[in-house]
Amino acid sequence: MTTSTGGATGQSSGAAARAEALDHDDPLAAYRDRFVGASSSLTYFDGNSLGRPLAVTADRMGVFVEHEWGGRLIRGWDEQWMELPLVVGDELGLVCLGAAPGQVVVADSTTVVLYKLLRAAVAARPDRPEIVLDTDNFPTDRYVAEAVARECGLHLRWVETDPALGLTLEQAASVVGPRTAVVLASHVAYRSAYVADVPGITALAHEAGALVLWDLSHSVGSVPVELDAWDVDLAVGCTYKYLNGGPGSPAFGYVAQRHLTELDQPVSGWMGHADPFAMGPGHTPDPGVRRLLSGTPPVLAMQPMRDMLALVAAVGMPAVRAKSVGLTSYAIELADELLLPLGVTLASPRDAAQRGGHVTLVHPRMREVVAALWKRDVIPDYRDPGGLRIGLSPLSTSYDEVRRGLEEVAALLRPGP
Ligand SMILES: *Cc1c(COP(=O)(O)O)cnc(C)c1O
Repeated sequence: MTTSTGGATGQSSGAAARAEALDHDDPLAAYRDRFVGASSSLTYFDGNSLGRPLAVTADRMGVFVEHEWGGRLIRGWDEQWMELPLVVGDELGLVCLGAAPGQVVVADSTTVVLYKLLRAAVAARPDRPEIVLDTDNFPTDRYVAEAVARECGLHLRWVETDPALGLTLEQAASVVGPRTAVVLASHVAYRSAYVADVPGITALAHEAGALVLWDLSHSVGSVPVELDAWDVDLAVGCTYKYLNGGPGSPAFGYVAQRHLTELDQPVSGWMGHADPFAMGPGHTPDPGVRRLLSGTPPVLAMQPMRDMLALVAAVGMPAVRAKSVGLTSYAIELADELLLPLGVTLASPRDAAQRGGHVTLVHPRMREVVAALWKRDVIPDYRDPGGLRIGLSPLSTSYDEVRRGLEEVAALLRPGP
């Protein structure tokens, strides 16, 4: 349950008492104990980059090696592994994405799925020469877009975004038009946590005859997503961040039902074939979302996320989001009190409705502060320029952890005697 610090001496500071009260009132507090390492003194602020494993995942992996792999061997492909990218995709669609079955697959890395979907999007709009994207999207998204533009002779229409925000509806409206093939953007900005207006930007892209490709890497499992209701065309995202899938767990790709039969992705391998074991001449894509697959799916690496999906399904995304908002709001409250007086600025939205699951705090000395924090077992990450990024994975982070971490930041920034 709650981790009490300082309470034993009866002399906890006001801040410790407040964190303790928040943990006490947190209906999801008990879930934290289900994660490996939760009882250690480590302060983990990087669950948005690599989530902690669930303890049950160790059992799942053991059973998998012993029985499913070791026992079933090659028979496992017929028995369940061939379908697993779609089965786990449907689970993910149901629990986190607001996607009806048959539109999500789990495969490859986010970078690779992004490439396949961006190529498919521009192929579906052959007379339109532009990809709209923003200057502060995650590097791999920008690099992949540059590669696709080079390969297909397209023009990149860059929107210069405020690094403390992200792509706004007004900015998108000012550039999207009859030349736009596709708008590529992140739902939650990796630097600021700004939540883009996905339904709004999607609607304006559609009015202009363009498609949208949303990157959900920093929202899936943290901020509710409604891909079907929002009329999104294509989406991708990571599963090792808020879905705790482990290092290198595969990405997911979403293709709206209405686009499936024409979706023409460039890596047409045997696993996306309508009949992989016919092994015939020429490639006939599967009629469904399986066509997004290329080669043998990473069955082993898609096991851990199933435990997190089961947990998120039990808790429900609205409750996960409520805890996430509670944690980021508390981090901002502490920053206002302890860090802004030391010259730190907030580079994330103050309005919780516009903020995802992390908070970025900027100070010219943050690079050295983050290095010192790691030595003290406080693990956030650093993003240029001067950004301390605090990722607060809702189910595995306590309010007291937030307090301990931010008090360390303040101690490191305070001028010495
Ligand atoms: C983390 C992240 C990625 C990572 O892509 P990989 O192929 O898994 O390395 C891509 N896009 C965004 C927006 C991310 O936050």
